[in-house]
Amino acid sequence: MIYADNAATTKMSESAIQTLVATIKETYGNPSSLYEFGQKAKEVLENAREEVASLIGAEPREILFTSGGSEADNQAIISAAKLGEKEGKKHIISTAFEHHAVLHTLEKLKKEGFDITLLDVHANGIVLPEEVEAAIREDTCLVTIMYANNEIGTIQPIAEIGAVCRKHGVLFHTDAVQAIGHVKIDVKEQNIDMLSASAHKFHGPKGVGFLYAKKGIRLTNLIEGGAQERGKRAGTENVPGIAAMATALREVVKDIDKNREHLVPIRDKIIAGLAAIPHSALNGDAAQRLPSNINFCFEGIEGESLLLLLDDKGVAASSGSACTSGSLDPSHVLLAIGRVHDVAHGSLRLSLGEDVTEEDADYMIKAVKDTVEYLRSFSPVWRNLVAGKTPFIL
Ligand SMILES: *Cc1c(COP(=O)(O)O)cnc(C)c1O
Repeated sequence: MIYADNAATTKMSESAIQTLVATIKETYGNPSSLYEFGQKAKEVLENAREEVASLIGAEPREILFTSGGSEADNQAIISAAKLGEKEGKKHIISTAFEHHAVLHTLEKLKKEGFDITLLDVHANGIVLPEEVEAAIREDTCLVTIMYANNEIGTIQPIAEIGAVCRKHGVLFHTDAVQAIGHVKIDVKEQNIDMLSASAHKFHGPKGVGFLYAKKGIRLTNLIEGGAQERGKRAGTENVPGIAAMATALREVVKDIDKNREHLVPIRDKIIAGLAAIPHSALNGDAAQRLPSNINFCFEGIEGESLLLLLDDKGVAASSGSACTSGSLDPSHVLLAIGRVHDVAHGSLRLSLGEDVTEEDADYMIKAVKDTVEYLRSFSPVWRNLVAGKTPFIL
């Protein structure tokens, strides 16, 4: 079995599991309690905060623990919107290919009277900093652009976009859920004001993440209650999950270069192998992409069928994003880079784990090639294309 859906979630690392179990067993006090049991848990919590902060170039007080990437995205955007509203600024800039945690939050704000500009991400899936600059207005209160896309893996020029925002005094948030652990992040150097991350995307546990918010940015709490997290997120902290997240993050950050060197040649071998399939196309820029991401469209087939047949061959892959699987809408990301509906339906994402081998790559190339051929052999859409009744697009 090959697990090639690491953009959906990852397997926990052994060391993160050890931290999780040890914390559950030994440090079960409530970090808000004043006696020894509580203070031990508090220490674990604050050590994790220091560790997470140092790994992204932030200060501990700038890290707020959340239930994951979605919550961090919601809180960052809502907070910036509330701050903007106070000054009469109700314009937000983002892109059409953000994660739904961002897009749906923006849709909610739109109903509250905010004006949302979604920038073009072009055919290569990359936003240009000069287009961000051109879109900034007097009343812009936030730019929110993802660091790396979860479907097509393209990496945005975040430091340059950050510099543009800084120049114009506009808050800049980035959803770095897919990038962290693959790309070197330094929030100060890259002019990032707010950043979202999620542990289960970098070999930590599910249901835990964090929001970095530069000091001075007043966050709006989404959850009312106790005074945890400096009063910005009520509820007893998930101490074991947070500790395990810090362990997992330390590991992936330490191994960034090693993992990149291992993954890039394997990724590019698979890309070359799949590009040899007739009427196929890589989605997203070939170079400015995550070392783990491969995303293709194959004309004349359905991505869902491909995915299910690959599962029979022992390959766990994805078509579109997990959140929209089961619906008939094609991926909003593929539509944003200009793929037409029919082509977007025939998509496949392979997101590699760091332990992937050359043999796995060969196996996946052959499995995809054989399965695409098989599906095309009885596809009426493919028959029409071959007969010239409908023109090929790819
Ligand atoms: C997975 C993901 C999220 C959501 O994170 P959760 O921790 O699952 O809530 C947000 N943004 C991106 C880009 C993601 O890939």
